[in-house]
Amino acid sequence: MNTKKTTALKFAGLALLIGLALTACSTVSANPEASLAEPVAAEAAADEDKAEIEALSMTEEALEEETANPSPANAALHASGLTLAEVDSLLYMREEEKLAHDVYVTLYQAWGTPVFQNIANSELSHTDAVKKLLDIYGLEDPAVSTPLGVFVNADLQALYDELIAWGSQSLADALKVGAAIEEIDILDLQQSLEKVGAADIRQVYENLLAGSENHLRAFTSVLAQQTGETYVPQYMDQAAYDAILAAPAQTGMGLSQGGVRGGGKRP
Ligand code: MN
Ligand code: MN
Repeated sequence: MNTKKTTALKFAGLALLIGLALTACSTVSANPEASLAEPVAAEAAADEDKAEIEALSMTEEALEEETANPSPANAALHASGLTLAEVDSLLYMREEEKLAHDVYVTLYQAWGTPVFQNIANSELSHTDAVKKLLDIYGLEDPAVSTPLGVFVNADLQALYDELIAWGSQSLADALKVGAAIEEIDILDLQQSLEKVGAADIRQVYENLLAGSENHLRAFTSVLAQQTGETYVPQYMDQAAYDAILAAPAQTGMGLSQGGVRGGGKRP
């Protein structure tokens, strides 16, 4: 083989390679959506889906079935446009505010101290405000038919039973139960506000939080008046508790009834 022929063959081969490369490039630019990265991304997404399915311990068949015929809970979630965390929080908060109401109504019947009745009225407006959000988002109300002292959420049912047993022992215990509920509410609302983005839900939670802070001041103040005891926080740290006690009463939705000291109603 002479040198000239070899060079010519080399050029022919190079031209063929360039031609192929140009064809490949023109194919890509003619179909801008057919990005070379897409098959890789699609594969990664498929892997993610698979991992998620495995994490949920759900078979692909079950997932397909759930997508085709969603359970009422999932159908409501999709229709609401809320996140799962927002829905969970609304359902829980509806019953948590009901718990505060039901405990105070029951403790008022036991002890006749006006602070329980006043704050029970405030809690009724709180649980109603959450009910309105459930209606707005088309979610089923867990408290639609539950009577006083009955809860769908098992944790809240257990908490209610425990608090009523405790608050029935003495007026001092009953007032401490009130303060304990408000501490729990404040911590739960603060946690919920970290997870909730919807502006209307956040606004209601901010109001409930302000209400709970008023109620915490009211119960601890009546405890001091009636028994001379200084309340010791049971759930929140002392510094956070002291900051709330030092803050002035707040006004807003359903807050007026809770801010009273001991007896009587505000003018
Ligand atoms: Mn409340
Ligand atoms: Mn409260």
